[in-house]
This record gives sequence, structure tokens and C-alpha cells, in this order.
Amino acid sequence: MSDCIFCKIVKEEIPSTRVYEDEFVIGFRDLNPLAKEHLLFIHRDHSKDINDLSDANPAQLSDVFKAISSYSKSSGLASSGFRVVTNLGSDGCQTVFHTHFHVLGGEKLGGFGS
Ligand code: AMP
Ligand code: ZN
Repeated sequence: MSDCIFCKIVKEEIPSTRVYEDEFVIGFRDLNPLAKEHLLFIHRDHSKDINDLSDANPAQLSDVFKAISSYSKSSGLASSGFRVVTNLGSDGCQTVFHTHFHVLGGEKLGGFGS
């Protein structure tokens, strides 16, 4: 999508700090980190949110989660642990409408049972 900022990051029309890339997926650092390590993983193909992606192209879910698995193991993030979050719509506080998965870690995270 031409006006989508994450599509522009895929096409390298706007800068990002990439930590991972393969044929299908890229991972880059979030501009406003909410944890010591805060990455965003996205499929190169545009979809607006997790429901859009799951309905239209469910295989893309495994593309993204394989990428997260590969990156988290090679970077060492997986040995201390991490959290994956995806936001949808207004109550989910989604602000960028290209499906993305926040990968948070590098420190003990609060919330969700702690
Ligand atoms: P969400 O609220 O789930 O839609 O998350 C969007 C995320 O994208 C936020 O955490 C932003 O900090 C992040 N973000 C927005 N623009 C950029 C950018 N150009 N590069 C990296 N991260 C970005
Ligand atoms: Zn997009």
C-alpha cells in the first residue's frame, strides 16, 4: 500500500534499524521502545491487522513466527525469554495498520501475571 509506513519500511523508502530479514518477513527496532529490546516483525505483504492476515493468508502467520523463532534464538533473546503482542483496532490501541508483531524482552516484563 503506497501510504502505509511499514510498506515504506519494507521498500526502504523510509529508514529503519533492521535486525532480521528473509524472503517474506522483516524485523526492525521500534522507534519508541517499551522494553530494553523492542522489535517489530512484519510480513512483506500488506495486511491491515491480524484478522485480515489470518482470513486472507494464514500461511503468513507461520512465516512471521518462524522469523521470530530464528531471530530470537540467534540473538540470545529466546534464552532469557520474550513476549509477542499484536494490537487490533481502537481498544487494542493499534496505530499502524500494517499487521505487526511486537517482540518485547531483554528485561523482566511487567503485567500478565507478574
Ligand atoms: P501499534 O500501536 O501496535 O500499532 O504499534 C505501532 C508501533 O510502531 C509503535 O510501537 C510505534 O512506536 C512503532 N513505529 C511507528 N513508526 C515507526 C517507524 N518509522 N519505525 C519503527 N517503529 C515505528
Ligand atoms: Zn503496509
